[in-house]
Amino acid sequence: MPFTSRQVYLKSTPVGMPTDDDFEVREETIDDPSDGEVVVRNAYMSVDPYMRGQMRMNWKPGTALVGGAVGEVVASKNPDFPEGSHVNSNWGWREYYNSDGRGLAPVDASLAPLSTYLGIMGMPGLTAWGGLLITGEYKDGESVFVSAASGAVGSVVGQIAKIKGGTVVGSAGSDEKVAHLVNEFGFDHAFNYKTANPLDELQKGAPDGIDVYFENVGGEQLEAALTHMRPYGRIPICGMIAHYNDSDNPTPGPRNLTETIYKFVQLRGFVVSAFNGQQAEFRQEMGGWIRDGRIRYQETTFDGIDKASAAFRGLFTGVNEGKMLVKLA
Ligand code: NDP
Repeated sequence: MPFTSRQVYLKSTPVGMPTDDDFEVREETIDDPSDGEVVVRNAYMSVDPYMRGQMRMNWKPGTALVGGAVGEVVASKNPDFPEGSHVNSNWGWREYYNSDGRGLAPVDASLAPLSTYLGIMGMPGLTAWGGLLITGEYKDGESVFVSAASGAVGSVVGQIAKIKGGTVVGSAGSDEKVAHLVNEFGFDHAFNYKTANPLDELQKGAPDGIDVYFENVGGEQLEAALTHMRPYGRIPICGMIAHYNDSDNPTPGPRNLTETIYKFVQLRGFVVSAFNGQQAEFRQEMGGWIRDGRIRYQETTFDGIDKASAAFRGLFTGVNEGKMLVKLA
């Protein structure tokens, strides 16, 4: 019996902040699997800031959106993925899909909640782990500043640095988030970047300077970090969300790059796929920290595919704490 599915299409290229009118939810029929195929019903889809760049550069109006998802195999003619098993894929932003199995990764729903494979045990967790420890060359005890610190990536960065004996300063966009960073995630200092002066706060939280600035935001916070870096400091550039909706009036780039010269500071961009080879090591280490209660995670969940566009916009207005998800089943 074929499956009725809904999926999200890009209707128009967003200009500035995306609106509901830029997206369209269409109903489609997903056929029963042929030999070698499966049908998957997505349980959760991931909502990620990088998709904004795809909408500007690669996805044209009329494109069916894709993104991370975890779901259950509901019909199978592929022995590798039996009915009732769970898989991770890049076939999100739809309720059901048909697949020949390529690009599907089995996940064990008994080890950890399904949703965590899109968050702390998945792409954002790997981004935090690899970006801090590999790209940022973090050494035990060093001081770290992380922006967008209450988000999926940032909250994990700060907690890893705490596990490794560091001093951690984080910034976020509300007093409530700031309180959570200190009280629940164990940050040494946190500030609301909308009301506080970032440089003053860095001086308070890390008086001797910062060894690693984990860059998620750009703009004024990057400038403050550059000024307050210690000699031989590293800035892994993970993202610059403050710039993603720039249109006519771009957010200014850092005006103080000269700070890098005499302090030998290194800025290095990275993409999470650089750590694909270290997935097993990451899962083992992160799984252990979660089991031992040394790392905590939060999720913000919208219900139903109709809410996908609201969830996506919420990334740019700070609606989420922790991983932004849409629950589909
Ligand atoms: P988050 O869960 O951190 O959600 C985004 C958060 O960014 C919001 O909650 C909001 O929190 C903050 N934010 C939004 N707009 C601004 C702004 N103008 N200035 C400051 N903060 C803002 O998302 P992720 O953890 O998934 O991603 C964090 C960063 O990492 C992003 O830049 C993303 O693009 C990047 N990334 C890069 C990857 C890579 O491979 N290089 C992989 C994954 C993510 P607040 O309330 O604090 O403002």
